[in-house]
Amino acid sequence: MYRAPVKDLRFVLDELIGSQALQACPEFADYSSETADAVLGEAARFAETILEPICKSGDREGARWNATGVTMPEGYRGAYQQFCESGWPSLRGEAEFGGQNVPTVLGTAVEELWASSNLAFKLCPMLTQGAIEAIQRFANPAQKHLFLPKMVRGEWTGTMNLTEPQAGSDLAQVRTRAVPAGPNYRIYGQKIFITYGEHDLTENIVHMVLARIEGAPPGVRGISLFMVPKFWVNADGKPGPRNDVNCASIEHKLGIHASPTCVMMFGENEGALGLLIGEPNRGLEYMFVMMNAARLSVGLEGYAQGERAYQQAAEWARSRVQGKPPVSLKKVAGSASLGTSSSPAPIIGHPDVKRMLLTMKSTVEACRALALYAALQLDIGKAHPDDAVRAAAQARGDLLIPIVKGFCTESGVELASIGIQVHGGMGYIEETGAAQTLRDVRITTIYEGTTGIQSNDLIGRKFGRDGGAALRALVEEMQQSLRALQGDNLQMTRARDAALDAVDRLGIAATALLQKLGNAPDQAMAVSVPFLKMCGLTIGGWLMARAAHVAADKLAQGSTDREFLDAKLASVHFYATQVLPQVLALEQVVRHGSDAVVTTDAALI
Ligand SMILES: Cc1cc2nc3c(=O)[nH]c(=O)nc-3n(C[C@H](O)[C@H](O)[C@H](O)COP(=O)(O)OP(=O)(O)OC[C@H]3O[C@@H](n4cnc5c(N)ncnc54)[C@H](O)[C@@H]3O)c2cc1C
Repeated sequence: MYRAPVKDLRFVLDELIGSQALQACPEFADYSSETADAVLGEAARFAETILEPICKSGDREGARWNATGVTMPEGYRGAYQQFCESGWPSLRGEAEFGGQNVPTVLGTAVEELWASSNLAFKLCPMLTQGAIEAIQRFANPAQKHLFLPKMVRGEWTGTMNLTEPQAGSDLAQVRTRAVPAGPNYRIYGQKIFITYGEHDLTENIVHMVLARIEGAPPGVRGISLFMVPKFWVNADGKPGPRNDVNCASIEHKLGIHASPTCVMMFGENEGALGLLIGEPNRGLEYMFVMMNAARLSVGLEGYAQGERAYQQAAEWARSRVQGKPPVSLKKVAGSASLGTSSSPAPIIGHPDVKRMLLTMKSTVEACRALALYAALQLDIGKAHPDDAVRAAAQARGDLLIPIVKGFCTESGVELASIGIQVHGGMGYIEETGAAQTLRDVRITTIYEGTTGIQSNDLIGRKFGRDGGAALRALVEEMQQSLRALQGDNLQMTRARDAALDAVDRLGIAATALLQKLGNAPDQAMAVSVPFLKMCGLTIGGWLMARAAHVAADKLAQGSTDREFLDAKLASVHFYATQVLPQVLALEQVVRHGSDAVVTTDAALI
């Protein structure tokens, strides 16, 4: 049974990344640890008691399609209603439209709990939030007032309609057409893989659709953004006639069965009426502005599912009795002789099982710290009163987003797989729930831009374009901050030294990569994912070392929270000695691994 890791979240927010710094931003002046605690406490209760109980049944039953629409699994309508009544959809919305405008960093912490307890459910509010942000940023005042209040309250949900059969990673190939019709447009085309494109949770669904206005230039510069409601919205805000947009089918897929993944048909008859958002031909640009938030939100899904996998595996390992774990009998002149305990014991006693669990726990902690740190940068980048501080934070946030998305989701898949390994054969059997976690998390490295696309973004747009300046600034800051970690706690000093070594190697790899980017971009692209992973591991290592410093400090000051702080130190110690050393190999790959990809196709026979 999933338990929300509220204490860990508080530790990261309050002690590690210092989210109290937000009080310097007028927009977030009311933010405090106390308000964050209250929100997290309520979110934990909702996740544990409302979302978790329908996660497994939703997977088994799945969303169901028929010609009149999509029926959600048992319990989802009630859960969604309670979600709205508790005010959760409005958490991130602007105050003008009924939103609570909480900072992204707190929103991210809360979303982890939705994503762990029920990933399929979480996607609906996430997509709605994406649509809300697009409307807030780019729609005209009349459009905002017509749509936002209902969406912010969760009475209507939103979708993102980008993908078409021939246009996945490459949105330049979008073919959906928009034909002027008075002040609006008629939309014609097919979209695929549309999350929550149809469902029975709300009376209306607002589709954000990428399409080409007739005569628009080819490629990315001819794509516009439209809002196409399932029921047309009259000027008084009341739903009007049914629009010409229909769900032709839903996909049968590996996981997230309760999330309907829809084939959407626009304009099979008179044409779907749509409202243009912002200016013509700037749709993709608008979408890119939205990407940071969406990619952060999918990134957290990776470690949120990793947390779920960890909790499942740890619970199993405590109760499954198998074999006699070895114990150190005595240490003579530095050499240990090994024996075994007298009777079979829970598998959590086996060193290799402990290794797997620690890999899961410590990697989740590193990912969580990384994602919340990135989220804080976005808040400061948006709201800090000082221009220079704002610009620096925004540049850092931009740099970190593809790392969060790529690293945290790839880690999530790995951890869910380890979770099955801890269960042994029973992990492969649906009963334990470990298999569902792996099936559910598997999509996170694919949607909202695959890991390959994230790494292109990282080295092309975020790293190459500024000549490596944002990354260099981060490397220097990490070096300084690590050198400043003083103290005599052995676990902390080891973690600090390991992190410093990793940061130095990241600096060296970045310089090598920058040279490749200048001379031979294909050589750089050939190692872009290993570089992304190296960034994630290293920044995670930096934050983990800082976490160890905080924990050691509190212990030295006589904190009574010894169990939690000791666990934190042990987790950091493991990360520094068994996870972070992957950076050594990745440095070699980034510096020397390109040729093997670029100069030969001989292996791909
Ligand atoms: C369950 C689910 C839900 C989804 N929800 C939505 C949604 O709500 N709205 C929506 O619009 N879409 C949605 N999608 C679509 C999703 O965003 C795309 O599947 C994804 O962007 C990848 O596109 P593709 O499937 O066409 O793969 P492709 O683009 O064909 O990619 C195939 C492989 O080629 C690699 N590749 C492609 N181009 C490059 C490149 N330039 N450089 C390096 N590698 C490259 C990819 O990394 C990948 O490994 C969803 C998909 C699924 C399965």
